[in-house]
Amino acid sequence: MAHLGTDMEIQFLPGVGPKRAELFKKELGVETVGDLLKSYPFRYIDKSSIVKIADARPDMAYLQVKAKVKRVDLIGSAKAGEPTPMDANNLKFNTIKRMSVWVSDGSGEMEMVFFKGIKWMYERLKPGSEFVFFGKPTAFGGKINMVHPEVDSASANSPSSGTDSTIAAGAMTGVYPSTERMKNAGVTGKVMSKVMEAALNRGLSNMEETLPEYIMKQCGLVPLHFAIRNIHFPKDLVSLEKSKYRLKFEELFYLQLSLLKQKYIRSREDLGIRMSKVGDAFNKCYESLPFPLTGAQKRVITEIRNDMKSGHQMNRLLQGDVGSGKTMVAVLTALIAIGNGFQACIMAPTEVLAQQHFKNIQKFLAPTGVKSAILTGSSKTSERREVHAGLQDGSIGIIVGTHALIEDNVIFQNLGLAIIDEQHRFGVEQRSKLWRKSSCGAPPHVLVMTATPIPRTLAMTLYGDLDVSVIDELPPGRKPVQTIHATDSKRPALYKFMKDQIALGRQIFIVYPLINETEKLDYQSLEAGAEEIMQKFPFPDYKTAVVHGKQLNDVKKFNMDAFAAGRANILVATSVIEVGVDVPNASVMVIESAERFGLSQLHQLRGRVGRGSEKSYCVLMTGHKLSKESRHRIELMCATENGFELAEEDMKMRGPGDLEGTQQSGLPISLNIASLAKDGLILNAARDCADAVLREDPTLTSDRNQLLRRELKKDKYQIKDFSKIS
Ligand code: ADP
Ligand code: MG
Repeated sequence: MAHLGTDMEIQFLPGVGPKRAELFKKELGVETVGDLLKSYPFRYIDKSSIVKIADARPDMAYLQVKAKVKRVDLIGSAKAGEPTPMDANNLKFNTIKRMSVWVSDGSGEMEMVFFKGIKWMYERLKPGSEFVFFGKPTAFGGKINMVHPEVDSASANSPSSGTDSTIAAGAMTGVYPSTERMKNAGVTGKVMSKVMEAALNRGLSNMEETLPEYIMKQCGLVPLHFAIRNIHFPKDLVSLEKSKYRLKFEELFYLQLSLLKQKYIRSREDLGIRMSKVGDAFNKCYESLPFPLTGAQKRVITEIRNDMKSGHQMNRLLQGDVGSGKTMVAVLTALIAIGNGFQACIMAPTEVLAQQHFKNIQKFLAPTGVKSAILTGSSKTSERREVHAGLQDGSIGIIVGTHALIEDNVIFQNLGLAIIDEQHRFGVEQRSKLWRKSSCGAPPHVLVMTATPIPRTLAMTLYGDLDVSVIDELPPGRKPVQTIHATDSKRPALYKFMKDQIALGRQIFIVYPLINETEKLDYQSLEAGAEEIMQKFPFPDYKTAVVHGKQLNDVKKFNMDAFAAGRANILVATSVIEVGVDVPNASVMVIESAERFGLSQLHQLRGRVGRGSEKSYCVLMTGHKLSKESRHRIELMCATENGFELAEEDMKMRGPGDLEGTQQSGLPISLNIASLAKDGLILNAARDCADAVLREDPTLTSDRNQLLRRELKKDKYQIKDFSKIS
């Protein structure tokens, strides 16, 4: 049965019907008129930006020409390179390798090349008809051509053609997401425009405004109807920009409103342990620190201290690049809890990291007399029993551990603080289990530490309800790491450089990519590489240790220890050996096939050197031929050591969904039109607006906010929150 308005199934729209409706559903997930109206064009053909073929240059980022088809050459597999006769009836399309379409716009001729979807294009691109071709120009044999350009009928939004009369006669026509199958079913750009026009006519008047009048006014936003109409059929460029802004703003606004609301409600509920003093343990530790804290560390500790004494639960994310001194902050935070009579736990994602933390904090705790312990999966039963008892009777003040800490039989006397290192590997349930271990009626304060530099825009969105502290300053005395890009031809020079460094008493990492642990090729390149190193750096003058995931644990440990203790000069390893080994004497990091690593992985690897007092180097070895993205990554690595800058760039290049560290959990949100990488300014404005609304009306109970309340209840704003513990 046909419904009216936005709920109407699209099969009832003129030009759709049941068959195409099925396709829209399958290919685009579009079922109703409302869905359709929210499928926005991903770009616009701007008639005013059509370029004459004679003016086309190969270095243009993209090119749009309007031209008539002159000739179509089908190049078959039988006689390679020779056009086969164009007898359409006898064509066997599966034997055709390539189709060349020669087009002309009067100023010149250009070749359009197709390797796929030839049958469909062949039937469409009839000689004599005119199209708009959009694509990336490439130089080929002294001429410019385009491979697989997008093809749109030149009259897609011509206002003169009968039923199209109500389509705005603007210069821009929307181009919609489409698939091969949709195109094969005749859903061309022109058809899409017609369907969209029908949807607007049927559905738009039934669409309710989704933002209160006062917010639109305050933030300078156009009404929803205007925005929807103009995003599909822009009257002009200004209307299009205003419409995009409004739709992006709305999306980001509700996202922030949903996250911030939880935060406001929590802080209103006065739920939290008031830790009013700093305490003796903190002061004793602070006074005996072997170094002054950096300005950033001091600032962050003040922020934490203010949270803990506020009477509200702390929910804070601490970001700091590798080596920025987060451990120190964790220890001092834990000591505040101790000073107020509470216990603290520090959770690490792996056994190795837990061990490392435990070892590291001992020297800071020594002057305080606070008792600490460690609990991991491999703790012996007797140790385990002892630790359990100490936690229950309160004699253990600080416990470091892995997931073993959240097992049911671990009971705290009064857990007041949970510090979680590398949050993304802990699930929500695990964290809420930890939360329930507090017996004092209020949830423990939570500090989440991460070395994954999450770009600010992303952090604001993912952790809208978390407060964020950033350590943006490295301890003094760190020598910058000089990063060098080299290819195979420089290998002899590299080996000479390595020998010089070893002669100076330094040690060297050589890392091979191991993207997939089961991939044979990766191991082969590691093994071949290790062999070559052992030939060029022969025993006993040089000692090389090799470590990879296929070794037995004992062997791995033996080799690692040899390097850590300085008995080996060179460590050849795979990237999965990410144990965060601290070898201050290592001054050179050679990364093989560096083009295969992501930016943040490269950055983490580089962080292993530059920890000692010597000048350090990172050498990125790559093949000669690099894709544009790989080259960009390598250049960035050579240009900056700032992890946050790299992360921002990474996100711009790859999009936030792929960001390392978030991919395990996946983004909890899907954005329809806004981009976290590109719309940072709109995000800021939307957040400020959401914050102002909630400051005045945290529960959204006032009359003018009823619309906000209703919208927030919609599914898409029910954010799967993985960032907070309570
Ligand atoms: P991360 O943030 O990677 O966890 P760490 O806490 O492990 O960094 O600190 C890295 C190194 O820097 C450690 O050896 C630590 O003792 C040292 N460090 C921390 N803070 C300072 C400081 N303010 N001045 C000098 N060295 C510091
Ligand atoms: Mg650390």
